[in-house]
Amino acid sequence: MTSSTLPPARKAFPTATILGYPRIGRRRELKKAVEAYWAGKSSAAELEAAAEGIQLATLRRLTELGLTEPSAIPGTFSYYDQVLDTAVALGAVPARFGELHDAEGRLGLDAYFTLARGNAEQQPLEMTKWFDTNYHYLVPEIGPETSFSLSSERVVDEFRFAKANGVVTRPYLVGPVTFLLLSKPSDGAPADFDPLTRLEDVLPVYAELLARLGEAGAEWVQLDEPALVADLDTPALEVSDAVERAYAALASVAGRPQILLSAPYGGLGAQTAVVAATGVEAVALDLFKGAVPSAEELGAFAGKTLVAGVVDGHNIWRNDLAASAAKLDALRAAGATVAVGTSTSAFHVPHDVEEETQLDAQLRSWLAFADQKVAEVATLASYLADPASAQAAIDEASRVIASRAEAPGVRRTEVRERTAALTDADFSRSDYAVRAAAQDAELNLPALPTTTIGSFPQTAEVRGARARLNKGAIDAAEYERLMKDEIKRVVDLQEELGFDVLVHGEPERNDMVQYFAENLDGFDVTVHGWVQSYGSRCTRPSILWGDVSRPAPITVPWAEYAQSLTEKPMKGMLTGPVTILAWSFVRDDQPLAETANQVALALRDEISDLESAGIKVIQVDEPALRELLPLRRADQPAYLDWSVKSFRLATSGVVDATQIHTHLCYSEFGVIIDAIDGLDADVTSIEAARSRMEVVHDLESHGFGRGVGPGVYDIHSPRVPSQGEIEELLKTAVAHVPSRQLWVNPDCGLKTRGYVETEESLRNLVEATKAAREVI
Ligand code: GLN
Ligand code: ZN
Repeated sequence: MTSSTLPPARKAFPTATILGYPRIGRRRELKKAVEAYWAGKSSAAELEAAAEGIQLATLRRLTELGLTEPSAIPGTFSYYDQVLDTAVALGAVPARFGELHDAEGRLGLDAYFTLARGNAEQQPLEMTKWFDTNYHYLVPEIGPETSFSLSSERVVDEFRFAKANGVVTRPYLVGPVTFLLLSKPSDGAPADFDPLTRLEDVLPVYAELLARLGEAGAEWVQLDEPALVADLDTPALEVSDAVERAYAALASVAGRPQILLSAPYGGLGAQTAVVAATGVEAVALDLFKGAVPSAEELGAFAGKTLVAGVVDGHNIWRNDLAASAAKLDALRAAGATVAVGTSTSAFHVPHDVEEETQLDAQLRSWLAFADQKVAEVATLASYLADPASAQAAIDEASRVIASRAEAPGVRRTEVRERTAALTDADFSRSDYAVRAAAQDAELNLPALPTTTIGSFPQTAEVRGARARLNKGAIDAAEYERLMKDEIKRVVDLQEELGFDVLVHGEPERNDMVQYFAENLDGFDVTVHGWVQSYGSRCTRPSILWGDVSRPAPITVPWAEYAQSLTEKPMKGMLTGPVTILAWSFVRDDQPLAETANQVALALRDEISDLESAGIKVIQVDEPALRELLPLRRADQPAYLDWSVKSFRLATSGVVDATQIHTHLCYSEFGVIIDAIDGLDADVTSIEAARSRMEVVHDLESHGFGRGVGPGVYDIHSPRVPSQGEIEELLKTAVAHVPSRQLWVNPDCGLKTRGYVETEESLRNLVEATKAAREVI
């Protein structure tokens, strides 16, 4: 450890800050730059120059918006993912990749992207959801054999770069406890290996990095510990113990910057006292989602700065400044040293609402994207210094929020009367046995029926047609003709391959949520509102701001047309209420359960129209059901109750003979298998090929009694599964699930695939099914 330097002078924590800022660029410059580099179209130097351009633009913008104090701007830039950044800094590379370090023991950009994207021999690191958000991080693989050594100083270099440009930033790292809690055991490790047992081995590398940051002149560093707000498999007492040990070690590092421990995404609960007792100099609390700690709890933070996360970093509504000011007052009254911050990093929201000039001005006034949140934080910091200076802004925020409640479309009597009149009967269908008999008679399907999940490859022609429609280069009639051509091609292909239940291929959908948002009342969509989903992948969540209803049928004409092309049953295809909520920015002025029921009723109307148009099988996708699961176990039953109910409300208006399908993208059933059962869908398709049918054991032990299609084709890569391979998977499935319940389908939709590999894979799927039918 190099620690000969004197500790830097102790600088007070800035009065206003944010925990993080969007890093993809206002025009997705980073996406373009990394994708060009991956495609071999630009050099590493060009990519680095683009990255510096984004960092510089961020520094300028945030300074302009009022984050002018040293250490107020967090160094949260990332080429791909913050967990990967930390893994690479620690040198925590799985052995399966071989040696990725260079001769100097460094992990460079190419090693970094290899971990993120895999190579010819190795799958990339697994990706999974970051807490209760739509962001996905890369899962480090840690075993007893993992060796840790400082392998990248990019965080130091970025600090120096900012400093050379006149800004002292606050470098960001995922904290050691969260880093290990989010890791999974490496391939070679015993199955019950707990990565947290390696804490003592990662701490020296963190210590070395802190010392380097100190030498470079960093006054504060942010160690992010969101794992402390979630109930994980590791017992809370073990987590507390790890926090004590980790921060005792880091606090004693000579020459280190002061430490801000950030705890976004919820309240610290039982860990509050543990965090308060550490030697860190500042703690950022999520006071938007979490409660203001009691005066007694606050007393334990004496000597530390509390960064009050009163401005929501995770949703886009304008802050209720009066309510936030009251929280700040409560903290101050308890004697705390207070600074103002966002509750989470603002990288979950787009850059700037001012860019969305097409939105209604009143709607725009209700919103705060990242830049507006910075201004809110600055206002609240000025409130702390001089309450009178912020009064006008506080009053204005109160006025705008009040105007929201009164605005047309926000509360509509006819929508509210419908949800208020719901009774238990609206949430349930007949017994499954009765339905199953009616459906058998109606559909007359063979054993092991084959189907797909909905989308077929979205070709350049299909996307091009949509782009031309949006630019006005073709009219709606021409667009419709092109989409119908594509639907016919998809239907003909499925007929030729021999599928039993067909789909229309979803060519007309830009996105499975936005498509519905554009066609329902109560929603708006943005033009520049991109947020990072993972790596270079961004999504543009819709804004659900008002009462939801369906002005006209949405999918019915497409489904009707597709059904007219075939004698086989055509699946109607909808996105479920929970997924529509999970992948949108949702109004915060009423319980999610109420909003979900409104969406469900709109879908129920659509389903009823599909049924009237002769559609006999209707699939309602709920891939996000698990995604919104609350981080605290105590909150989970209430969530599962309303989410399951909203699905049932959407789907229970049909006759017995109409078959309802649902699709879930993942296979980690564990905690939610009861909920999946509770959806009461006639058929559930799930991802299974990737995990080699692991899920059938869960289904078996749970006694899952309805139709189920564990995926037999991993659609996440262009690889074509052979017929033999699919037969093997089916053999496993048949051994654990009664064959009369089994369906055969891919893991998920095919929209990201090409036609060549899709056709070959689907052919193998149908042929394997025929072979399997011979032996059941
Ligand atoms: N029906 C959608 C599709 O096939 C489902 C996608 C998803 O589950 N994410 O694309
Ligand atoms: Zn899926």
